Amino acid sequence: MAPEASYQIAEDAFAGFVDTDTLPEQLCTGCIWTEGPVWFDETETLLFSDIPNNRMMQWNRVAGASEFLNPAEFTNGHIRDHDGHLVSCEHGGRRVIRRLADGTVEVIADKYDGKRLNSPNDLVMTSDGAIWFTDPPYGIASSVEGYEAKSELGVNYVFRVDPDTSELTIVADDFDKPNGLAFSADEKILYIADSGAINGASDPGFNAGAPHHIRAFDVVDGRTLANSRLFVDIKPGVPDGLRVDTEGFVWTSAADGVHCYAPDSTLYGKILLPEVVANLTFGGPGGTTIFIAASTSIYTVATTRHDAKSTR
Ligand code: MG
Repeated sequence: MAPEASYQIAEDAFAGFVDTDTLPEQLCTGCIWTEGPVWFDETETLLFSDIPNNRMMQWNRVAGASEFLNPAEFTNGHIRDHDGHLVSCEHGGRRVIRRLADGTVEVIADKYDGKRLNSPNDLVMTSDGAIWFTDPPYGIASSVEGYEAKSELGVNYVFRVDPDTSELTIVADDFDKPNGLAFSADEKILYIADSGAINGASDPGFNAGAPHHIRAFDVVDGRTLANSRLFVDIKPGVPDGLRVDTEGFVWTSAADGVHCYAPDSTLYGKILLPEVVANLTFGGPGGTTIFIAASTSIYTVATTRHDAKSTR
């Protein structure tokens, strides 16, 4: 356990959200930059990316941490689709892929309007099977988290992949660097992080004049976004991955740990960690454990909450 780990309770109710008697536990360390945690309930295993090492890792309570895939085309965010298949964003392949049980890879998205994507970062699937993903340039800005290349699109879009036609449509075109994203349980609100204040591994300095916030959108007909508004400015650092629980609370990454905000943007509390957090996911037996990808390590915290996706 990392001795610096602790909790900050801003609203009393937060003490009922997390087990504040038990400090966050460091499950494993030794990576360079962990990302994309995803839980497999049937094997009680967490998969995650270690992007600069170009590998995917696996962890479970019995076996500990080990390599799952190396090389891994610099994968970043992962989800499981409605059939349980692993769906991944690849910086290296500049695409979104589905990995079948026999190891076969299906390409879900790699081009828009004939141009290669930048480097898909994070993704989410709605109940209709559509995949929504962000496409910032972190995987092509240098060769630390992918293969350095020029952007063909020249814009960092948020896309939706139609479940019936596989067609990509742009759902947001005004982000600096769109990153993590998550829907409310009823899929009527989509939250999208903008991590523009961090340029990436090649230039990790903080530009306070650039976005470091989460925006909320109304989802129209399950296909388009409307009514963009600022949900919260994240300090310190930037928001990367985030999750929404069944009651609409937003759990987001930040430089000092994981922050929990109510649907009206009120800060309820923080899980403070000694490493910069990139992403998180709900999992574990019963689905109430939060697994946190934080720089070189994975941490875990017991909660009383469930991911909004668990209602679908
Ligand atoms: Mg990310």
